[in-house]
Amino acid sequence: MTQNTDPASNLAAVRADIAKAATAAGRDPAAVHLVAVSKFHDADTVRAVLNAGHRLFGENRVQEAEEKWPALRADFPDVAVHLIGPLQSNKVKNAVATFDVIETVDRPKIARALAKEFDRAGRRLPCYVQVNTGEEPQKAGVAPGDVDAFVAECRDNLGLDIQGLMCIPPVDEEAALHFALLSEIADRNGLAVKSMGMSADYEKAISLGATHVRVGTAIFGVRPQTA
Ligand SMILES: *Cc1c(COP(=O)(O)O)cnc(C)c1O
Repeated sequence: MTQNTDPASNLAAVRADIAKAATAAGRDPAAVHLVAVSKFHDADTVRAVLNAGHRLFGENRVQEAEEKWPALRADFPDVAVHLIGPLQSNKVKNAVATFDVIETVDRPKIARALAKEFDRAGRRLPCYVQVNTGEEPQKAGVAPGDVDAFVAECRDNLGLDIQGLMCIPPVDEEAALHFALLSEIADRNGLAVKSMGMSADYEKAISLGATHVRVGTAIFGVRPQTA
């Protein structure tokens, strides 16, 4: 992980690492998308990365994104912002208005609320299903054994545009096992998108098929506050 405090040069270093990891795995570097996780960082810090040409971002709180992104979008209309944090029912409407992709569809209630809001708003966002690969009781996500049925329910009965899966492996376990599991579940459900890998392990995730890596600290430095 880089120690540099300049987000633009950190971004260049992360991009180079991604290209190297993809090439080493025999993959096209263009098939790996970097989601720059800007949570807790202010608009000026984010702007440095936008000015460096980056356009794909992740935020984990609906309210923070609602406050930060409208002004940035006005200057950079081609940005895409992914919701990568937990979604509560009472925030679904705001989330659909604020984000471009919902990465954290994690339970039937939220899937139904999203389907309803997409109909109401006439705006249908691509969605990923969050998988609790470590089956951790305190962590959000669908248990690995329930994903096939949940994806079918979302796609066939609710009409959601489920494009892929995302996971956050347990901190104290070998991440590679979780990345391999997510990849296998995505493949058997015909899902192309695999959102996995963060600052500490994105290269490993790429070697196991990640199409989207979510990288915060390695680009923006240590977050000013934690959740
Ligand atoms: C904060 C966060 C990240 C980025 O983590 P870093 O270790 O700072 O790269 C990735 N994914 C999710 C879901 C997050 O909440």
